[in-house]
Amino acid sequence: MSRYTDANCKLCRREGQKLFLKGERCYSSKCALERRNYAPGQHGQARKKMSEYGVQLREKQKAKRFYGVQETQFRNLFEKAAKKTGKTGENLMILLETRLDNVVFRLGFAASRKEARQLVTHGHFTVNGKKADIPSMEVKAGDVIAVKEKSQSSPKFKEIKEMSITVPAWMAVDVNKLEGKVVAMPRREDIDTPIAEHLIVELYSK
Ligand code: SF4
Repeated sequence: MSRYTDANCKLCRREGQKLFLKGERCYSSKCALERRNYAPGQHGQARKKMSEYGVQLREKQKAKRFYGVQETQFRNLFEKAAKKTGKTGENLMILLETRLDNVVFRLGFAASRKEARQLVTHGHFTVNGKKADIPSMEVKAGDVIAVKEKSQSSPKFKEIKEMSITVPAWMAVDVNKLEGKVVAMPRREDIDTPIAEHLIVELYSK
């Protein structure tokens, strides 16, 4: 039996939660977490009681890994969230969710956030008709995200045209046109990412 696991899967095992970093594999019985639901490494199976700080730190790491955001970028997003009106934690989740790479993933145009990031960087998308190749770009209500005309004939996107895609309530998708729209900004309750953002706020408030 295959014991395949790799660096991405180790991140999920470390967090004890599926982070959905590998596309279809994550939804199959090949998922490493389904097979070995304990942290990687020699002491991975040892039960450890975590300090309050440790719990907060793990939650921040989990959020970063889920969305594939680097430390500095994550901290900057937090600062931005703190300056907005409303709850900082909720603002942070909305900022993460409305990154272009996440939106491309949610629209079903990529199998994982990692793939979405690559596709965006390679220039396969437009936002409101203009080239958009920065994964961290923040999308807003009313924005139209589309696969660039030139890219629509690629096998990957042709395959997507055959698929039936369900998107979150704050989006709409026209699979035939390979086009999606941000109908409204998401609210926290629209975001199913299993993150306890108050722990991140507590961590950064120390
Ligand atoms: Fe690996 Fe995906 Fe399973 Fe995570 S959810 S362990 S990335 S297969």
